[in-house]
Parts: sequence; structure tokens; C-alpha cells
Amino acid sequence: MSEVQFHTEMETLLQTAEPETRSVWLMHEAGERLGLSHDEVHELVAPERVTVFRVSCKILGKVVNFWGCLSLHNSARGPFKGGIRLAPDVTIWETTELSRLMTLKCAACDIEFGGGKTGIRVDMPAMYKLFDRTPRDLDFEKIITIDAVEYYSKIFRDVFSSHLYIPAPDMGTGPDEMAFIYNETQDPASVTGKGDGVQGWLPGRKESTGIGCSYVAMRTLDEMVGIAPDGATIAIQGFGNVGRPLAKDLAEHGVKVVGITDLWGGVHNPEGLDIDALLQHFEDNATVANFGGGRPLNNEELFGLDVDCLIPAAAGDVICEDVAKTIKAKCVVEAANMPTTIDGMKTLWERGIIVAPDILANAGGVIASMLEYSSSLSAIKPERHEVYKILKKKIGENFDLSRDRAAEEDIGFVEAAIEIAMERVYSVMKGRRMM
Ligand code: NAD
Repeated sequence: MSEVQFHTEMETLLQTAEPETRSVWLMHEAGERLGLSHDEVHELVAPERVTVFRVSCKILGKVVNFWGCLSLHNSARGPFKGGIRLAPDVTIWETTELSRLMTLKCAACDIEFGGGKTGIRVDMPAMYKLFDRTPRDLDFEKIITIDAVEYYSKIFRDVFSSHLYIPAPDMGTGPDEMAFIYNETQDPASVTGKGDGVQGWLPGRKESTGIGCSYVAMRTLDEMVGIAPDGATIAIQGFGNVGRPLAKDLAEHGVKVVGITDLWGGVHNPEGLDIDALLQHFEDNATVANFGGGRPLNNEELFGLDVDCLIPAAAGDVICEDVAKTIKAKCVVEAANMPTTIDGMKTLWERGIIVAPDILANAGGVIASMLEYSSSLSAIKPERHEVYKILKKKIGENFDLSRDRAAEEDIGFVEAAIEIAMERVYSVMKGRRMM
């Protein structure tokens, strides 16, 4: 037989068995502590429906096919809710894991949504080659992402219009892409994370994840580490939709943000970075690299900085066991989804470093989405400060419950939040005879 292997895009998406994932591991551990049976945990872990699809787009006169996956994980507590991720390395299992995380996040913050997620394989470097362009051309990238989402929204229009699944932005998408879902459905409640002025938009939605994370970071420092946020030092990985408002809000509260990195470089200033100047630099250069207000910094150095708090706000799985051993911060606040691996988490636990869980730390976005969804047909919008107040209240109440439970049961903050989320989903699934 020929040595040559032919793999379709679908085969690379469809792996045979789910790799060991953090949420499954945490849920099985929590299930044991909660006295749930193996089958019951399985029902909580398994997605309700997973669809693999191809989006055929006509972009700048060429037909381009993107493959993707929609995971509708759990609808016990409300409509499937979760963002659209465009990335070159999307897999079914990653999308499934992220949709499961949405179920847990919405339950951990006690909001009436279930969990879903879309992943579409968009390989931007390959697009530059295909269209014979030179990176980075932000206008060109926008054409690609908007076209991918526009064609995707035609496939799933009925799913959005019926509010079965309500998408939002995730990595690689933002308000511009969400506008094209609205264009397709003409229904302001069919999508959240819409840009300013698009019917049903919400003031403060864009900044809400960063604002919620800043709130969690300051409370973690204050109440769990015993360091006053004013004057405390923080390092952040990522200066995107989450990282920028996060850094700004922290700086406005007197926190010294001393190091920030992104995909192209980073900057360190032990006296605290001038965040307004850095935001202007980002506006002009689309990166924090080469910012004059500090010395260059790479990601490896960032994780080892001697700071009070470390905030991964970029990719997943960045804090593995080896990285966890080098961390000097007293707490890690998970702005990104699952930035700490299972082994990374065990190492941080052994070293006494507190981890504030992603399902609380980055829940500001989905809480604001709930407000956007529920007020989308109203001509009276909540004001920005009201949105922030509600998201802090929701996160705050559940921060208290998780913190107290962690202390009572002598388990981690992450583990306690997972237990609370699982109990809430389990009780509704039982009540609705879904298990
Ligand atoms: P984004 O695409 O706007 O920004 C990502 C940032 O991280 C960029 O600065 C990028 O350069 C940097 N980055 C990416 N990979 C990196 C790497 N390997 N090393 C260093 N820097 C890297 O994304 P975002 O919307 O800010 O999301 C960031 C994280 O937060 C993701 O894990 C996402 O799933 C999670 N999250 C986002 C939201 C939201 O509302 N946007 C809500 C919940 C969770």
C-alpha cells in the first residue's frame, strides 16, 4: 500500500477520542466529591450536539473553503451560548471543551444560558499566501474574517433566529463580524457582542470581560493574598479585547501593570507602564512590541516576573507544569479560557499559588451578553456603569460562594467554582428529566 496518507480536513478535525481535557478532569474529580455516579458525570460532560460543517466563501473572486465545528453542549439552564473562534488550529475537541466551559461559566455565575461554541479553521498566513499579500494587512484580514462569518451565518441562520444558539465574539472575531450575523437574521437578540449602534447593542459590552477580570484580580489580591490592590504589581499576557480594558481598569485603580506581552513582543517597566500611552502605541502599531516606555520582554520572562499577580489573557494551556514552577506571582487570575493545564494547576496548588478560575474571572463578557440579549428589543438601554455594576454583582456573589466553599472543603478556588456550577446544572437536568 502507498505510504502516502490522504487526510481530509474533516479527519483532522475529528479525532478518535477526546484527549484528556482540563474540564473533564475537574468535573470527574468534583463529581466524586459531590457523590455523583459515573453516568451522571458523563451526562454533564457530554455535548448535546456537535456539527461539523464546511463554509464555502467567495472571497475577492476566489472560492475558499473553511471547515468548522459547532458544539451545543448543554441547554438545561437556557439557550446555548458561546463565541465564534477563528483560528488555524481549531479541533472538534477544543470546540467541545470550550462549549463545556461555557456551560460551567454560565452556571458558576448563575445566569440563564447554557453552553455552546463555534470554531472555524481560518489560517491567516495561508490566506496571505493564497491571495499573494504581505502580512500584516489588517484590512485584508478583516475581509477574510467577515466573509467567513457572513457565509457561516447563512448556514446557521435558523439556529440563531430561533435563539437555540446565541453566538458572540471569541478569538479572531469581534463586533464587526457579529454585525454580519445580525444582517442575516435581522434579529437583535440572535447575537451578542454587537458593535455600537447596531440594533440591540449594549454600552460597555466590549470592555465587560476585562472589567470583570480586573474586579476578580483586585478581590483575589485583597481577600485571598492579603495585598492591597493599590500599588500591587501585575503582569499580563495578551493585549486584545480582554487585555486592553483589563490593563486600563487596573491602572485606573492604582495597580502597577509592570509587564505586558502579545504575539509580537512585550514590554516591562518595574515602575508601572503608562497604559494610556501604551494604548495609543497599540492603536498606531497593533502590538505592544517596541513601546518606548519600558524594556523589551518576551513571554517566558513575563511568566517569571516577580509580581503579585499574573494574568494570562491570551491563549489556552500556556501555564504548563514547567512554566508553573517558574511563576513568582502569589496568584494567577485566568482571564483566558483554560490558560492553566491540569499539571500546571497541580503545581501551582502545591506551591500555594492561588488560581482564580476562568469561569469567574472572564465571565464579565457573558454576563453583559445576557443583559444585551434580554434588553435587545428595548429602546431603553442600561448605561455603561449599570452594566458594570450588574456584572460585578453577579461575579462578586459567586466569587464569595466559591471562596468560602474552597476554605470549608480545603480545595482550590477553581475546584470550588466547578462544584457550584456542576450542582446547578445537575439539579436542573434532574428537574427537567434530562438525566
Ligand atoms: P484577542 O484575539 O482580542 O487578543 C488576544 C491577545 O493575546 C493578543 O494581544 C494576541 O497578540 C495575544 N496572544 C495570542 N496568543 C499569544 C501567545 N501564544 N503568546 C502571547 N500572546 C498571545 O482575544 P481576546 O478576545 O482578548 O481573548 C483572549 C482570551 O480570553 C481567549 O482565551 C478567549 O477565549 C478569552 N475570553 C475572551 C472573552 C471576550 O469577551 N473577548 C470572553 C471570555 C474569554
